[in-house]
Amino acid sequence: MSIRSPIPLAENEELETGSAPPQIEACNVTKKYGQVAAVRDLSLSVRRGEFLTILGPSGSGKTTTLMLLAGFETPDHGDILIAGKSVAAVSSCHRDQGIVFQSYALFPHLTVRRNLEFPLEMRGMKAAERTKRVDRILERVHPHDLEARLPSQLSGGQQQRVALARALIADPQILLLDEPLSALDRNLREQMQGEIKSLHKEFGITTVCVTHDQEEALTLSDRSIVMLEGRIVQADTPEILYDRPSTRFVANFLGEANILGNPGFEVECVEQQPPGTVPMIRPERICISAAGSGAADAHRRQSVRGTVINMIYAVPLRKYQVSVGSSVLVVREHVSSGQLAFRPGEAVQLDWLRSDVRFVAT
Ligand code: ADP
Ligand code: MG
Repeated sequence: MSIRSPIPLAENEELETGSAPPQIEACNVTKKYGQVAAVRDLSLSVRRGEFLTILGPSGSGKTTTLMLLAGFETPDHGDILIAGKSVAAVSSCHRDQGIVFQSYALFPHLTVRRNLEFPLEMRGMKAAERTKRVDRILERVHPHDLEARLPSQLSGGQQQRVALARALIADPQILLLDEPLSALDRNLREQMQGEIKSLHKEFGITTVCVTHDQEEALTLSDRSIVMLEGRIVQADTPEILYDRPSTRFVANFLGEANILGNPGFEVECVEQQPPGTVPMIRPERICISAAGSGAADAHRRQSVRGTVINMIYAVPLRKYQVSVGSSVLVVREHVSSGQLAFRPGEAVQLDWLRSDVRFVAT
């Protein structure tokens, strides 16, 4: 979609972000609204070409963080750096960035074409060049027959595409997105996720995307930060956040988790349990079988007896609740396991690798 002049990365050439210099940095940033500290002493660094998602529940400070990075809000304490330089004195409209707001924020009285042209006009670009750029981006994202319409005459998905095109039209170094897909239905959302991901891969624009959708974060990003009450709780690759969440909150926020605080049976672990933590195991790490089927690999696996409370189909999975000791464990099984479904009341055996047990801070 971008019409950036430098040659895009060649196919199969991943932008190596691991060693790239930081493009955006927040250093000990605090932002208060009256008595509410929306962002508290937050530090983060986004490398050039990286795709970072900011994840967290509603009210955790995600939008405020993005608005601070974008220069629409000023920190009470701390600093924002772009390419190593403080941008405290640079207004948002003079920064080399494109933004998609949660509400899309298209100008309601301007046509699609005029909406796209506006940022170029603000930069003093000549009319002929503006027309050329808008034509090119319209070709990529939109059928030309929509260009004369007003935003109110577009569907949510169409408005979203215009907002994304507008954010990219001036070839920014940085793309900032605030829940850009939250208003779209599932199919369209997945399609747009693919589009955003391929744009990022093609041009390596440093991207920060706010979302409250865990799946979206896990799909899109090189790295995610999880926020709660204005602070970063954990920052890591999606795989590590899911597989090794540091706290109970992160474990529960990124998918389902069996927290085994006081489960009524002894949890056998490989690692030593650190103080202030509880054991946790993901539902898909637990195998379910008929009671008495005997544990394979007993020296590596823990096996417990339980009773099925209920089962729901969440195609292509079966999701069981199984009472074990004094707790209820959630178990996920792929329907292709070849097993018949267990029914409520049936006695079952659950087993899992001891090495799949994690510890999360309470
Ligand atoms: P999120 O995007 O994660 O939902 P926000 O950054 O919008 O969270 O908000 C974080 C906190 O700051 C919330 O408690 C919210 O009510 C408060 N807040 C955000 N913007 C303002 C504002 N302009 N005035 C007063 N309070 C605000
Ligand atoms: Mg928000």
